Amino acid sequence: MAERKGILFVLSGFSGAGKGTIMRTFFEKYRGFALSISATTRLPRAGEEHGVDYFFITEAEFEEIIAKDGLIEYTRYRNNYYGTPKQFVMDKLNAGVDVFLEIEVDGCSKVKKLFPDAVTIFVTTPGAEELYRRLKSRGTDTDEEIMGRLARAAEEIRFIPEYDYLLVNDDLDECVDALYDLTEAEKARPSRNEDTVSAFAAELDTLLKGE
Ligand code: 5GP
Repeated sequence: MAERKGILFVLSGFSGAGKGTIMRTFFEKYRGFALSISATTRLPRAGEEHGVDYFFITEAEFEEIIAKDGLIEYTRYRNNYYGTPKQFVMDKLNAGVDVFLEIEVDGCSKVKKLFPDAVTIFVTTPGAEELYRRLKSRGTDTDEEIMGRLARAAEEIRFIPEYDYLLVNDDLDECVDALYDLTEAEKARPSRNEDTVSAFAAELDTLLKGE
């Protein structure tokens, strides 16, 4: 049977909705997926590592990668560049490995244009009050920054209808399992299994001809 290509999954969501935690928990629990590590020009936060959380590079280095066409997409977000390195993603997809990108809405719509088969997922909290509460309890942002993140959420909410799936991150484990379930459902689409169907048809043909 021919090897299937990997599926590209794109996870976006409001800042504070728990995308990072969802991805970490998902990758601890489920095997067979690869997570793309983005390049960024923002400075590492405490505990973040180069090559693990991001490739932390300079503006000049980032622009060199753009010039060499080394990114699937990139955007400017809060005055920094963020982009998805092309080689890793293409290698994994070609090897039949499903890949996750964790990127914001602008990047997601660019990816969807380039990869119409990509599966896009938006993560939110059960409500805006809960988003505010989580941002506040994180304790990393000033009130002004929190209001900035909420204002950005008000802009991003308009893009939700463009996504294939909406995940409400109420209970983390349930959310992670729901994410896995949707990856399984996507794998079962006939459009992603055309090789299996044509191999079956060829075998059936042979049987019916009595060869
Ligand atoms: P943070 O600075 O909080 O790690 O990320 C800020 C935003 O940039 C998040 O919404 C994150 O999903 C998004 N992001 C991270 N990497 C990329 C990327 O490669 N491309 C795009 N378009 N967005 C990214």
